[in-house]
Amino acid sequence: MLIDSHSHLEMDDFEKDLEEVISRAKVSGIGYIFTVGTEKKDWNRTIEIVNSHPSIYGILGVHPHNAKEIDHETYPTLKQLCQQEKVKAYGEIGLDFFRNLSPRDVQLKRFREQIGLAKELQLPIVVHDREAHRETLEILKSEKAEECGGIIHCFSGDYEMAKACMDMGFFISVPGSITYKNSEDYRETIKRIPLESLLIETDAPFLTPVPFRGKRNEPSYVRYTAQKVAEIKKVPFEKVAEVTTENALRVYRLS
Ligand SMILES: [Zn+2]
Ligand SMILES: [Zn+2]
Repeated sequence: MLIDSHSHLEMDDFEKDLEEVISRAKVSGIGYIFTVGTEKKDWNRTIEIVNSHPSIYGILGVHPHNAKEIDHETYPTLKQLCQQEKVKAYGEIGLDFFRNLSPRDVQLKRFREQIGLAKELQLPIVVHDREAHRETLEILKSEKAEECGGIIHCFSGDYEMAKACMDMGFFISVPGSITYKNSEDYRETIKRIPLESLLIETDAPFLTPVPFRGKRNEPSYVRYTAQKVAEIKKVPFEKVAEVTTENALRVYRLS
């Protein structure tokens, strides 16, 4: 069994064929899928999807892209929605200094606030960090994020950053980009991270692994990411499947 620890099934990309996507994942041995509602307009859809599929769980929060849209209703709404039993983490939250769709100072402020909210809700956090490694680490430390723990999703930092995150009890999640030809340095980093700290994800519909790069990503393709992790770590595929599944069940507190 494999787990896709991070996808976005509520996005319009899956509007037409979501049920087929979910059955393909089942047939491919994906036991559980975690789907992330990143902004207000998606949260109800996330809840709808997880409540109608026993093997899908939800993650809710405000993505750094949407940080500028947070208003006085946002946190009360999230607090309420996150009480639902099938919501297993808070996120994705963090910093995106690549696209800068929200001003940086707003992103920093909202990231701090949302770590506080996750702690209040007693949920682990899912962290998005793009080209903001130093600031992300600084905030995780100063906000004592080790108290909630969680996942650095689509991890893109170096080994030192991974080590600092692991020391705070965070898991490191690997996306399909590990299969890309030009990801040699990234593979070297992942090779050094113990399997016991790794998760695998699709981030579907984005970051489609080889051999489907260029097409829409979907949870069944998480297999190619697991295969690549097995190859670079020189361990059997089954071992990667077993340990990353245990890790995901642990961080999302499913037994
Ligand atoms: Zn992300
Ligand atoms: Zn995502």
